[in-house]
This record gives sequence, structure tokens and C-alpha cells, in this order.
Amino acid sequence: MVLNELGNKINNVLQSLSKEPVIDKRVLDAMLKDISAALLSSDVNVKLVLKLRENIKKTVDLDKLAAGINKNKIIQNAVFDELCKLVDPGVEVWQPKKKKQNVIMTVGLQGSGKTTSCTKLASYFHRRGWKTALVCADTFRAGAFDQLKQNAAKAHIPYYGSYEESDPVQIATEGVAKFKEKNFEIIIVDTSGRHKQESQLFDEMKQIYDNVNPDNVIFVLDGTIGQAAELQAQAFKESIDVGSIILTKMDGHAKGGGAISAVAATKSPILFIGTGEHIHDLEKFSSRSFISKMLG
Ligand code: GDP
Repeated sequence: MVLNELGNKINNVLQSLSKEPVIDKRVLDAMLKDISAALLSSDVNVKLVLKLRENIKKTVDLDKLAAGINKNKIIQNAVFDELCKLVDPGVEVWQPKKKKQNVIMTVGLQGSGKTTSCTKLASYFHRRGWKTALVCADTFRAGAFDQLKQNAAKAHIPYYGSYEESDPVQIATEGVAKFKEKNFEIIIVDTSGRHKQESQLFDEMKQIYDNVNPDNVIFVLDGTIGQAAELQAQAFKESIDVGSIILTKMDGHAKGGGAISAVAATKSPILFIGTGEHIHDLEKFSSRSFISKMLG
């Protein structure tokens, strides 16, 4: 994962810092400059980088640190905490409720990995004992229903969809009603994407939202798209009440900037990351372990 490149760069900066005999303002500024450069080269938004720099400066006030204190350690901790903040909006992570009918609606552009993530998510809950079902309301992409059907069948997860009905709102409404009637605890609705953020896509999304009344809307984002993530995430957040994020393709060329921008634009936590094409390639997200892993 290219994300490690960012981790390596930051590690190198921190290692050079630990070799400095004296840590003064000049050394701290040089280190902050190098960390900023590493983040910018990984597509992290410049405003966020400036904020991170400011926060570290505030935490590490060299004039106020007592003599003899390990400045190096304080700086390392401040950098780590600020990196965590970049991928953690500080809001409570959504959890489904037992013995309730939790409806999850996924949104995202075509190709982001939405259908794959829906089946991964369904399998995740199914394996943990939740009565789980899938609804395919993606009537736009030919083959979406077949893809979902095959994966759902393999994982023994009930599914709903139609080859004849072309109205995604009707399919979503019917599918959710059917599974609610049968007391399913987790009902995941896969909606259609488009190549661009067209108004039709958002209209359709809103209609489905109004009809199925989801408990959580998950925005599925391709982790490899870099800077474009910010605008995309913003557009979705403005159109629908995005509650969480699944970041896909983190096994590929993800640089980290996409993740960070999406969290900043939606103020929503990342629930899971997709780490491959297989149904089990879904990892629960934790900002501290994500950053620890990144730093190696
Ligand atoms: P959708 O149009 O958003 O429903 O996208 P799909 O679910 O069909 O996924 C698009 C492509 O991305 C497929 O080839 C998936 O196998 C692939 N994909 C989805 N998630 C991941 C992931 O986490 N890692 C990798 N490597 N590929 C993924």
C-alpha cells in the first residue's frame, strides 16, 4: 500500500529529529516543514496540513517545557495524535442495535466498490450472528444484481432484487419491507452509482432515503482517488445525511489523502476499510491502529 510511503516519510523525519543533539525552535520548524511536505505529497488537503502544524506547535511549546524533559518524545506523541485526528472526526461510531431492524443504505459513485462492500458488510454481520439480508437497488449498472446475488448466495445471505423492475426506489422499498416483515436485524441496501455526481443520481438517492428511512447511510469511497475525494465526499454529504464511510481499495494505491479529506468533508467516521476483492477483505477501522500501521 502506497500509504506506507507516507508512513516511511514521517518516520524518517521523526528519526532525524531523534538524532538532533538539541531540539530548539529551528529544529522543530524544520521538522514541521518536512512532515507537512510528506502529507501534501500524499494528497492531504493543505488547510488540514496547516491546522496540524498549528496544533503541534501549540502542544509543543518549547519555551514552556521544563528543562530535562524528553522533548523528542513529546513531539513524537504530538505528531501521532495529530495524525490520528486527521482520520477521526471525533463523533460516535454508529452501531446497529440488537433485536431491531437496522437499515443501512450505501451510496457512492460507480466503481467505488459499493456492491462489493455491501456483500462484505453483510457477511461481516452474518458471521457475527446478526440476521442479515441484502437488497440490490442498483438498476443502473448492468450486472450489479448478478454480482450481489452470486456473492450473497455464496455467503448464505438472503437477498432481494429484480431483473424486470427498473425503478430502484420501488425495489428498495419492497426489499426493505419484505425483510422487515421477516424480522431481519441488518438490511443493507445497495444503491446505484453513476460515473459523475449527476443530479439524477442524487434525486434517486434521496427518494430511496425517504422511502426506506435508513438508520445509517454509508458513503463508499475509493481510497485511491486522492484529492478528488474531498469534492466527491462534500457533494454526497450535501445531498444526503451521510453517517459513516467505507474506504475501499486500501490494499492498492491508496495514499491516505483520500481518507483524510473524506473524513474532513463529511465529519463522518470511517467504519471499515476494504483491503481486497474477497468477501472477507474488510477491516474494522480504528484511527490509532491505522496510523500505527501506517508508521510501521
Ligand atoms: P460499484 O460499481 O461501486 O458497485 O463497484 P464494485 O463493487 O463492482 O467494485 C468495482 C471494482 O473494485 C471491482 O473490480 C471490485 O472487485 C473492486 N474492489 C472493491 N473493493 C475493493 C477493495 O477493497 N480492494 C480491491 N483491490 N478491489 C476492490
